[in-house]
Amino acid sequence: MKITKLTTFIVPPRWCFLKIETDEGIAGWGEPVVEGRAQTVAAAVDELSDYLIGRDPRHVQDLWNVMYRAGFYRGGPIMMSAIAGVDQALWDIKGRALGVPVYELLGGPVRDRIRVYSWIGGDRPSETAEQARAAVARGFTAVKMNGTEEMQYIDTHDKVARAVANVAAIRDVVGPDIGIGVDFHGRVHKPMAKVLMRELRDFKLMFIEEPVLSEHLEAIPELAAIGAAPIALGERLYSRWDFKRVLATGGVDIIQPDPSHSGGITETCKIAAMAEAYDVAVALHCPLGPIALAANLQIDAVSYNAFIQEQSLGIHYNTSNDLLDYVVNPQAFAYRDGYVDMPGGPGLGIEVNEDYVRERAAEGHRWRNPVWRHADGSVAEW
Ligand SMILES: [Mg+2]
Repeated sequence: MKITKLTTFIVPPRWCFLKIETDEGIAGWGEPVVEGRAQTVAAAVDELSDYLIGRDPRHVQDLWNVMYRAGFYRGGPIMMSAIAGVDQALWDIKGRALGVPVYELLGGPVRDRIRVYSWIGGDRPSETAEQARAAVARGFTAVKMNGTEEMQYIDTHDKVARAVANVAAIRDVVGPDIGIGVDFHGRVHKPMAKVLMRELRDFKLMFIEEPVLSEHLEAIPELAAIGAAPIALGERLYSRWDFKRVLATGGVDIIQPDPSHSGGITETCKIAAMAEAYDVAVALHCPLGPIALAANLQIDAVSYNAFIQEQSLGIHYNTSNDLLDYVVNPQAFAYRDGYVDMPGGPGLGIEVNEDYVRERAAEGHRWRNPVWRHADGSVAEW
């Protein structure tokens, strides 16, 4: 079998899909995208096609190494997301060629289903308690929210009080047993992260995410010592070599690689296995589309330390299109009692509605995250 063609589709709300075709009529799909840089990643995929056309798509490990190592320069969000989408599509092809789900090729599932959480609130958290109540009514047992708006290095206590009041209102509404993840989103710098985490200690959170940016790993042990909640991070890390530093530094309890950014199924499985050796849990990052989620579930199926999965149904970014729009078999993502079953179909387990993908790609998107500024006019982390 030989790869004959790679085609990328930039589709709303902010995604990029990749179709890889072969000379045997089997095609696979992947989702190579960095939110806000979809066209750049598509260009990187086009450059990778020079290494892929004419090669056997079933040699996934070798092609991964060619894409990662043979280009001399490596790592980072753009190149690792391009590799990720290609890798997902290669696994999809291999699974379809053999008529089995990808997780069967990875040794078979260690679980039947995985817990999922629902996003509540938007960029600027408000009215989150009512949304939490609604998510629980839909069967979710865990929710995640942004913790704060923009936050200066040293900021005023009213912003801290607002963040704490939001969390308190949610805990009040959902009771003690619903998981609440609070994402600081890398918006908070270490001085205020310490303050916020101390204030959030009483709410028995499921985790606090990106309390500071992952480029400040050396701050994590100090923040972990506050004991506010398990610490999660990793959506902006891209390889085993990035996560090696996280695990060696310590203080992180949950890693959150994004299989559309961290080198695909091949690399993310290896990252998860590294974390298992440190007794660190996995909660894969996936605010993206259906192909990405299908790839995530293949990894959840075989990763013992995965305990929950992010998914984007109804997320605040999905304004023009939502998670289920592009698949012929949306039942693959039927959530029940806060869990989603491992998809049973061949490859990634979903059937992409290519006609609709092409229709929406004609419109495309130029999604960019908002640029925030502090009161003094300086740029704020979003
Ligand atoms: Mg996050």
